Amino acid sequence: MGTRIDGKALAAKTCESLQAVVGSLSKEGPAPGLHVILVGDDPASRVYVGSKARKAESIGIRSELTVLPEGTSYGELEDRIGALNADESVDGILVQLPLPNLPTRDVLDLVAPEKDVDGFHPINAGLLLQKRPRFVPCTPLGVLAMLDAYGVETSGKNALVIGRSDIVGKPMGALLTHRNATVTIAHSRTVDLEQQVGEAEILVVAMGRMRSVPARWIRPGATVIDVGIHRMEDKKLTGDVHPDGLEERAAFYTPVPGGVGPMTIAMLMVNTTLAAVLRRGGDPSLLSDLIPSV
Ligand code: NAD
Repeated sequence: MGTRIDGKALAAKTCESLQAVVGSLSKEGPAPGLHVILVGDDPASRVYVGSKARKAESIGIRSELTVLPEGTSYGELEDRIGALNADESVDGILVQLPLPNLPTRDVLDLVAPEKDVDGFHPINAGLLLQKRPRFVPCTPLGVLAMLDAYGVETSGKNALVIGRSDIVGKPMGALLTHRNATVTIAHSRTVDLEQQVGEAEILVVAMGRMRSVPARWIRPGATVIDVGIHRMEDKKLTGDVHPDGLEERAAFYTPVPGGVGPMTIAMLMVNTTLAAVLRRGGDPSLLSDLIPSV
């Protein structure tokens, strides 16, 4: 029987420690502030934005939301993000994805790199690739924190990342490379996914396809991190990995829900606090217990 990686519990512990750091920062100045921009009214995005705001408030991080109607133009968004970039009281800016009918990459480029708590700006992506990270995308950073918390060795291991998105797959590949794993990135044109999966000692699945990796493909004793989130017909959540037989096969595995999702939000809170510390000329080592070393 493998060990279930409890992302929910680890996220709660992370947020509890973070609350102490936020508390001490807030004695010296304004509390760290996160501003979220939501365009349109996609129900799933509303749920995500709501849970980020609630988590921020529970930690003592100020949270503000701009909701813009579907049909907002690029120019209007440029003005809004420009105003937030110039607003001293805003430490972190997050543009909720997906953006309806807007050029996502161009919009994300508008966020000032020092407020880019999602780590999606090309400057932050480049810094990560060069192994001198500032803001690392929250999902892969949370995955690394989970591997560390459960003592999963990465050095010298064969790691397979399924998915090559800028948000999850590519930064995950960079992080595991920096941690001395031998990394393969699989994607929609990979020819024999089953064979690749069978060789992986660490498997991170971020393909956005429900229950597409059956447990029988997985190398016995592997560590399996499931980033996917899907809602089934019965309304229950599930991942990209089929859960049947997973705990018998894997040494460590994340559940869905309760795995990667809560850690992603916790890392957003950590990045927002880091932005506040850096913008105020403070000491980022205040957060060193909460940010996995890269
Ligand atoms: P994406 O759609 O941008 O990328 C999916 C990737 O999977 C692509 O690079 C594609 O090449 C690859 N892929 C698709 N089909 C494949 C196949 N048959 N074989 C191999 N590779 C294949 O998605 P994303 O933004 O990276 O997100 C991936 C999943 O993770 C989604 O389900 C998303 O909802 C979820 N997600 C969860 C969190 C969280 O907090 N838990 C955060 C971000 C994303």
